[in-house]
Amino acid sequence: MCYHIPIMRILILSDIHANLVALESVLNATVGRYDAIWCLGDVVGYGPSPNECVALMRERAALCVMGNHDWAVLGRPGIDVDDFNPHARQAVLWTREVLTAESRAYLEQLPHIPIRPEADKNLLLTHASPREPVLEYILTPSIAMENFAEFTEQICFIGHTHKPVIYRWRLHDEITADAGTESERQQIATVEMLQPQIGVPIKLNTSPQLRLMINPGSVGQPRDNDVRAAFGILDLEAKTWCYERVGYLIELTQNQMRAVNLPRRLIDRLSFGW
Ligand code: ZN
Repeated sequence: MCYHIPIMRILILSDIHANLVALESVLNATVGRYDAIWCLGDVVGYGPSPNECVALMRERAALCVMGNHDWAVLGRPGIDVDDFNPHARQAVLWTREVLTAESRAYLEQLPHIPIRPEADKNLLLTHASPREPVLEYILTPSIAMENFAEFTEQICFIGHTHKPVIYRWRLHDEITADAGTESERQQIATVEMLQPQIGVPIKLNTSPQLRLMINPGSVGQPRDNDVRAAFGILDLEAKTWCYERVGYLIELTQNQMRAVNLPRRLIDRLSFGW
């Protein structure tokens, strides 16, 4: 017998970066609260446990896209590890050495283009941006604005910057009236940058006139001065997004990094969340 179990609540993870302690803390904190996991890429790079994190995502994530670190670790054309900063590069090269054939096979098959989940055709998932799926950093409303022109879905989930944020695109009717002449109606688009509150579900009132780009932040290497692992839960039934943080044993990850001689700077930054 075959039952169709609809996917309603989705745990969205991004930029795990081989930080198994952080990933396990997120999974422990969310038990029973989701029906599926979607991952926005960069499962590996920076952290000490690439194979363990890949194994967890292979087992549990229904969808996962390719991140720039995942790609760089594979050493395929398209991304040059020499373009990475020296510490990131060192971590990529170390990851390449320890990556098992099984982990490599998983990373190899990750799509490096945005994907539209079966569960909802109004959603798009990409690592970096709709325009440059693996590489572009969406850090400002103006870069977001350019990217809203690159997709038609109502919500696009992005990662890559390691900073939780929501960009809200709106199409307004604007009426311009010059004195003594006829008024003219025109449509203009604006983009606002919103900072979601932790643990407070927000209603996703999207439409063709109101679209969103949502970044859940990073599980394994947050860069918004909050050291805790970041993630979010999308509820397709209630149409809500809840952005959350959970603390993890940072020292444990740092000890694991020291044990395999990953760069000091990468170890230290976890204590500050940048
Ligand atoms: Zn990343």
